[in-house]
Amino acid sequence: MNKENLKTGIDIDEIGREMYRLMSELFPICRSITGNGVRKTLHIIKKHIPLMVHDVPTGTQVFDWTIPKEWNIVNAYVKNSKGEKIIDFTKNNLHILNYSVPVKKKISLKELKEHLFTLPEYPDWIPYRTSYYKENWGFCISHNQFIDLREDEYEVFIDSSLEDGCLTYGEYYIKGEKTEEVLISCHTCHPSLCNDNLSGIVLSVFLAKHLSQKSLKYSYRFLFIPGTIGSITWLCLNESNVSKVKHGLVVACIGDAGKFTYKRSRQDRAEIDRTVINVLRNSGTDFEIIDFIPFGYDERQYCSPGFNLPVGCLMRTPHGRYPEYHTSADNLNLVQPEYMAESFSIFLSVFNILENNKKYINQNPKCEPQLGKRGLYQMLGGQKDVKEKEFSMLWVLNLSDGRNTLLDISDKSGLRFDLIKDAAEALLACGLLKEDIGKVAF
Ligand code: ZN
Repeated sequence: MNKENLKTGIDIDEIGREMYRLMSELFPICRSITGNGVRKTLHIIKKHIPLMVHDVPTGTQVFDWTIPKEWNIVNAYVKNSKGEKIIDFTKNNLHILNYSVPVKKKISLKELKEHLFTLPEYPDWIPYRTSYYKENWGFCISHNQFIDLREDEYEVFIDSSLEDGCLTYGEYYIKGEKTEEVLISCHTCHPSLCNDNLSGIVLSVFLAKHLSQKSLKYSYRFLFIPGTIGSITWLCLNESNVSKVKHGLVVACIGDAGKFTYKRSRQDRAEIDRTVINVLRNSGTDFEIIDFIPFGYDERQYCSPGFNLPVGCLMRTPHGRYPEYHTSADNLNLVQPEYMAESFSIFLSVFNILENNKKYINQNPKCEPQLGKRGLYQMLGGQKDVKEKEFSMLWVLNLSDGRNTLLDISDKSGLRFDLIKDAAEALLACGLLKEDIGKVAF
């Protein structure tokens, strides 16, 4: 049986607005690779999808890495000698160097400056900085504020803790007819930053919510994990099941106005690579395809040589290629509901192909069958969609020789997958095609 179109009956603009509302709710939380910010985020996501939350203790060995100490923060500020708070974590959580150790002391301007981070090229913006694996403390401020700082005695207070605890991640599994899986992975470790990566989180939540109401061929697994250490941890704990992953996408930077960017999996021409490229080519929007490179997001781990999973990364403007990246300007203005909605639609088109990609065998391969006597040949002529339907049937009949899938036929003909699938269904219904249920080699 073919699967229902995943886009049927949805109000894409409303979903865009709902995703934006969830993003606004998650924006103020101070997240990191561990700690209460991540737990609070997962707790809010649980109101939308029944997420499983996993806690992996500090010190657990995961391949060449060790789960770090858990970091939590309550408050942090710098006061001048008049007692005025000149830097206040509660006003913007980017002010704290993420993973700062606790501090309470009075220091000179010179010493304070050794712990301040700024962005001279964008003097109004606060940078986002971390120090996960080296114990340190610091504050991030605008460069304009930095150059205005005067000689004084400053009081530095960081009420944080760095102790044995857990790394927390969320996982949501939707069971389909097959045990073979589609993996969707996003990172949950960034504080008040929208495109990187609240956009990936909220898109994953709404995709999961939508798919959970559908009858699916594949099973789907959504991971909400801290970047790098999270995917390493998940791969280590689930090594024996990883072979079930047939297709995967890392979701990041998916809510800005930029064109779509697809980074291929390390396999280069896996079905997921060809599917995403097919969707983007037929989307009418601008896009760019980039080859696999061993840096970026968690695809680095899924595509490490010991796993080499078919996992690509679908973004709009990639990390590092927009000035607001890792700054206070990556906020609720940079990401907009309509861009999120468009991204949601592109992902559903990808899943539609994965769910329906099959191979058929032409039952009348000696010369073209007579379509007219089967009611398949439209006598109207001239109309573009009628012509496309006829061309689709001719392509499907010609290439359904046991070697080509519907995706292959869509690629070779340049016709949209939906048209090719509809043509195959019409031909199947009148007995001109038979489904090839043998193992499909992609
Ligand atoms: Zn980032």
